[in-house]
Amino acid sequence: MERLKKRLTDLRALEAAMGLMGWDQQCYMPKGGAEARALHLSTLSRMHHELFACSEMGDLLAEAAAEAEPGSLDAAMVRVVRRDYDKATKLPPELVEEQARLSAEGHEVWVEARRNDDFASFAPILRRVFELNKRIADCLGYEEHIYDALLDLYEEGATRNDCLRMYEALKQETVPLVRSIAERPQNDDSFLHGEWDVEKQREFTLRLVRAIGFDLERGRQDVAPHPFCTGWSVNDIRLTTRFTSYLPSAIFGSLHEAGHGLYEQNSPKEWDQTPLAGGVSMALHESQSRTWENLVGRSRAFWARFLPDLQQAFPQLAGVDVDAFYKAVNRVQPSLIRVEADEVTYNLHTLVRFEIECEVLTDQLAVDDIPEAWNAKYEAYLGVRPPNDANGCLQDVHWSGGMVGYFPTYTMGNILSFQFWELLAKDLGDPYALISRGEFAPLLDWLREKIYSQGKRYTPKELVRRVTGGELDPKPYLAGLKRKYAEIYGL
Ligand code: ZN
Repeated sequence: MERLKKRLTDLRALEAAMGLMGWDQQCYMPKGGAEARALHLSTLSRMHHELFACSEMGDLLAEAAAEAEPGSLDAAMVRVVRRDYDKATKLPPELVEEQARLSAEGHEVWVEARRNDDFASFAPILRRVFELNKRIADCLGYEEHIYDALLDLYEEGATRNDCLRMYEALKQETVPLVRSIAERPQNDDSFLHGEWDVEKQREFTLRLVRAIGFDLERGRQDVAPHPFCTGWSVNDIRLTTRFTSYLPSAIFGSLHEAGHGLYEQNSPKEWDQTPLAGGVSMALHESQSRTWENLVGRSRAFWARFLPDLQQAFPQLAGVDVDAFYKAVNRVQPSLIRVEADEVTYNLHTLVRFEIECEVLTDQLAVDDIPEAWNAKYEAYLGVRPPNDANGCLQDVHWSGGMVGYFPTYTMGNILSFQFWELLAKDLGDPYALISRGEFAPLLDWLREKIYSQGKRYTPKELVRRVTGGELDPKPYLAGLKRKYAEIYGL
């Protein structure tokens, strides 16, 4: 066990170096640094693979597993590392290389294809991406459906059947909800667009992330074109945001990433630099970013507390009252672009991708026919038809990076956030009374106790069971959305 831990500490240092270089690449690196950075990252990544995916590591894991007390933290740690080890060793090296090559090549081709709205130029890459993912799934193995193997890469234990159940419930309730909202007069949000001083946006977003409990002594916020959260210690978590002409972009982007950051910062300090620290899965992580972004940040209570501060920073908002602001930042509008989608329509965007991925993986849909299938599904679920592929099937980066099976985790996160929130509200009384007074500590304490302090100790499904007593369940989410938007749109 001690030798295993020593080896993991070495690996951790390499991971930290790669994480820091990756963060710098997005935030500060001059353009000219790209080539050297790619070389350094691939070298470190090869060193990491050699140190990790080797027979010595297999022996260490086997010995440590025999030593660990069942149910202990050591046993949990061995389980977490074992899972990564199996993934790293089940794939033949030439497959891993092809994956790295394809994602580097694919990204360039995708950027061009999207810019020129030219799906045909991206199709050969996309065919290789799906072929590669089929081979990966075969190497990793699965019981029922090929999708299960790929989804499991991002969300341990989740299956296509889980997704089918989840999306069926969502489809039934959300599609009619979107239609009835579309029949109502739209909320004015024109006052959210304009020229916003970047320094003031920075100050205000920092004030918000500090207020909800993100510790800026153990983290920071910088600017990146596509916001993300990363880190290499529970005491050093990096948030990013962006400042645009649409004011909510920085505000909710910052709250979203700070939600990820709170999850990471609130792992037990004594687990720092061990495989047990940090968020357990993509869906659990997204449940926390969505909690702070949507359930907290897009509530009326939140703006009762913070609108006066925002108006002080931006006097042009002086005439806007809390109600108008609340309605504006909760405007529902079927649109073409997933990352800009509102709370109600968002999951229909991931549903389209999930269905298409399943169909292509099982040869029911040819890659060349993706644009047509995509547009038809947007029309059926969202009532909008992309006028071109740049705003249709070419919009997301995931496929170009070789990732298939990722999208449902966003929706699982949305659903889990409401399940947890329902329980939190039961324990804390009225969370919105706390929020309207700017008292976020009780919320953070609850989430820390139930979720953040558990790190990766349990599998995602086990953690959900421990917190909720059950499994992923769309009911609280659907009920919550209906309640909120019936009130906003007078349905
Ligand atoms: Zn996120």
